[in-house]
Parts: sequence; structure tokens; C-alpha cells
Amino acid sequence: MAGEFELIHRYFEAATTARPDVLLGIGDDCALLQMPPDRVLAVSTDTLVSGRHFEPDVDPVALGHKALAVNLSDLAAMGADPAWATLALTLPQADEAWLASFMKGFAGLADAFGVQLVGGDTTRGPLSITLTVFGFLSADAVLRRDAARPGDRVYVSGTLGDAGLALAIRQGRLQDQQESQGLGERLDRPQPRVRLGQELAACSRCCVDVSDGLLADLAHICERSGVGAVIELEKLPLSPALQQHVRGSGDWTLPLSAGDDYELLFTVPEGLQEAFARISTGFDVAVSCIGRIEKGERVRMIDSDGQAFEPKEAGYDHFRV
Ligand code: ADP
Ligand code: MG
Repeated sequence: MAGEFELIHRYFEAATTARPDVLLGIGDDCALLQMPPDRVLAVSTDTLVSGRHFEPDVDPVALGHKALAVNLSDLAAMGADPAWATLALTLPQADEAWLASFMKGFAGLADAFGVQLVGGDTTRGPLSITLTVFGFLSADAVLRRDAARPGDRVYVSGTLGDAGLALAIRQGRLQDQQESQGLGERLDRPQPRVRLGQELAACSRCCVDVSDGLLADLAHICERSGVGAVIELEKLPLSPALQQHVRGSGDWTLPLSAGDDYELLFTVPEGLQEAFARISTGFDVAVSCIGRIEKGERVRMIDSDGQAFEPKEAGYDHFRV
């Protein structure tokens, strides 16, 4: 079986595209990285633990993709341009087939966004993956959670609740349905909205990625910004599968509270609506206006008649921010 250094050489060293700003990559005590002038560094770390964030028998290609995708989604939510990553891997054993597959998923997404793996650590123990990503942005074009103001419109990209529905079907909590083909991709291979995040900076100052569910993540914006929000249920963007599920069950829990969609939730001030409408025609993903920021500290929801909507289901403790 290959030793630690052989594994590093074989699976990590040339795994991703070489960037000119990497003066020294994998193989020394530190990586040496050249920052572009006049940009600030955005840094984010996430850990995925086996049995908690994923099942131990999950497809390693999908896991490699998702581990990087959830981190790139954090960079996207700041409007940053991804550049580098480090990877701390704890593995029960040196399973080379598993590693090769994991790195295939990882490198596929890294290459798509020009990210170079520049270092990391490899140890033995219960399977766990810690990734740190680094990206660049201009200090005056940052998307922060604390920048929402009353009157701003609230937007979200893509569709909501698909990953949650896919998980519920996979775990047998909900029945498979006619429209659910392709949903598994939304759960296993989320697409970080990196380009959207960078383009938003022209019209938005406030953004978060939807990792914990729409209401929970909107609550983060409201709390940080000291504002409330009103969401119009009928405006939530739903895939055909989610429309079928919500229409059939009358239950809005998935689009409101399911996590793992990795869409961007952001605000646009009233005065920038027209400019935003113009740039949004060039986005690589659809965006939908779903409500408005208002004074207060509560996230309210209204139905198509403008009536207050109070979900029947328990477990909405993140309702109030
Ligand atoms: P050190 O003992 O100096 O920390 P290591 O033996 O841990 O060095 O790692 C040797 C080199 O391999 C370092 O450049 C490190 O960044 C890189 N490396 C180790 N594990 C990984 C990994 N999982 N992914 C990427 N690079 C790694
Ligand atoms: Mg080390």
C-alpha cells in the first residue's frame, strides 16, 4: 500500500490546474501565493464529517464535488472570485480507489472554476473532510449579510427545496413522484453560483447562500442587518417536482426550510431595480423577486391573497430572528 507521501504525490500534487499566482504549491512546508494588487482575500472553511454530513457509503465522486461546492458557495455569497483551496483529509485507511474517485469529483469542479489545490494535510482516523477556500474581491464590491435596508427587494436564484425533496425520497420519507427525475443531481452535485455572486456586486450589497433553508438564511440577513422581511409564498421559485409536492401536500416546509440548495439569497435597493433588471438578463441562472425587506425584526410570509401565512408544521423556531 502506498505511503503518505506517495499518496500526496499521486492524488493531490497535480490534481488541479496550475495557476500562475501559485509561486509554490504542494510539497513544501507552506504554499506561497501571490495576491493580485488592490484586492482583498476572502477565506472560508467547512468540515464534512462522515455519518453527520454524508453517509459513509456515499459515492466518493459526488462527495469530492460537494465538499468543494459548499465552500465555493460561500465565496459566491461574498461576490469573490475563487482561486485556491487547501484540503485536510482524515481517512480510515489509504483506500486508493476511494481517493481517486474523491479527487475526480473535486478536480472536476476545481478546474471548472480555475481553483488550484495548494496544500493540506492527510491523517488517519474516522472519515472527515475539511476544506478551506480562498478567493479575491474588491473591497468596494463586497456582498455582506449586514447590508440589507428596509425597502430593498429580496431575490433568490434557481429553485428552492429540490435537494430536500431528493433527500426525503432517498430516505423513504416521501414517495418518489412523476417529476422527480434529476432531483438527485441537485442534492449530490450542487452548482455553486460563483458567476452570479460576482455579477451581483453591481446592484447588490447583501447576500447569503441558502445552505440551511430559505427562512433560516434570510433570518441571518435580518439579524445582521437589524431589519425584518416579508416573503410572498406564491413567488417562491419551485421546480416542477416541488410544485407537484407542494400542490399535493399543501406543505411548504421543503421550499421554506430544507437546506442544501446552495442558491444565492440577496437584496437589491429600490433605486437599483431597473439597472438590476438589465444586468439580470445576462445571468447564467434565473433569479426571482420573492419579497421585501422592511422595518422590524421578523420574517413574515403572506399568501396569494395577501393574508398572513402561518405554517401548520412544527419546527419553525427560526421564524423570529
Ligand atoms: P508537514 O509535515 O510539513 O505539514 P505534510 O507531510 O503534512 O507536511 O504534507 C506534505 C505536503 O503535502 C505539504 O505541502 C502539504 O500541504 C501537502 N498535503 C498533504 N496532504 C494534502 C492533501 N490532503 N491535499 C493537498 N495537499 C496535501
Ligand atoms: Mg502536515
